[in-house]
Amino acid sequence: MAKKNNIVIVFDFDKTIIDVDSDNWVVDELGFTDLFNQLLPTMPWNSLMVRMMKELHDHGKTIEEIKKVLTRIPIHPRVILAIKAAHALGCELRIVSDANTFFIETILEYLGILEYFSEINTNLGHVDEQGRLTISPYHDFTKSSHGCSRCPPNMCKGLIIERIQDSFTKEGNKMTMIYLGDGANDYCPSLRLKAEDYMMPRKDFPVWDLISQNPTLVKATVRDWTDGEAMERILMGIINEVISSSNEEEEKEKMLICDHCKISVGIVHEPLVPLALQVPLKLVK
Ligand SMILES: [Mg+2]
Ligand SMILES: [Zn+2]
Repeated sequence: MAKKNNIVIVFDFDKTIIDVDSDNWVVDELGFTDLFNQLLPTMPWNSLMVRMMKELHDHGKTIEEIKKVLTRIPIHPRVILAIKAAHALGCELRIVSDANTFFIETILEYLGILEYFSEINTNLGHVDEQGRLTISPYHDFTKSSHGCSRCPPNMCKGLIIERIQDSFTKEGNKMTMIYLGDGANDYCPSLRLKAEDYMMPRKDFPVWDLISQNPTLVKATVRDWTDGEAMERILMGIINEVISSSNEEEEKEKMLICDHCKISVGIVHEPLVPLALQVPLKLVK
């Protein structure tokens, strides 16, 4: 693997890494769409998924059945190649998602790409003793609010982005972030990105619509993408841009150090002056 560069790529999961929403996929594939749609207007998404997992279990659906359904989830093959290539170039990869650890890890492990991610920020999915999948919110909103009115109560992705940025600043390390997402909850993080960062919204999806309404609010360079093929091409383009511009900077720094050397060499020759002065004194005698 190439040596680590200073690029952190943050991926949303549903409809970004995979081509569908994993929550909907599991519910639909196991035949619970009607109940899901019936309950959807009555509670927040995250609470609904907790309820749906209970319903699946009560109706005799096993964890193995859920796993099997997850391994059939649609993903564009170029996305997998993009993830592997970005990692090979030395980028650090992270996930910020409102799905859950059980779904995400099952899918990534099946695809053989789980190890490429250094961090997965999502709701905790846990299989209890009865073999039922329980989902606990990433942010426990029953204890306190995360304080961001833009985001659902269980997760503010913007706060996670801030935490990642702060961890780099604290250690005095430079970092360029590339953020990829599709949903309305990917808008909050896009507002936290800095001028040197890149935002990759999926074209004609909610986050793209929100950015398009007032593009000046996003300080990062915005490059949209449509499918896995476009994502790979645009992501690789940005990585190459960042790497070559940081190489240029390194070269410039080296040149500055060399200029410094020339000045020092000049000073070494100075003792020649008093030697030259001795000559006229001898001549006077
Ligand atoms: Mg998404
Ligand atoms: Zn937020």
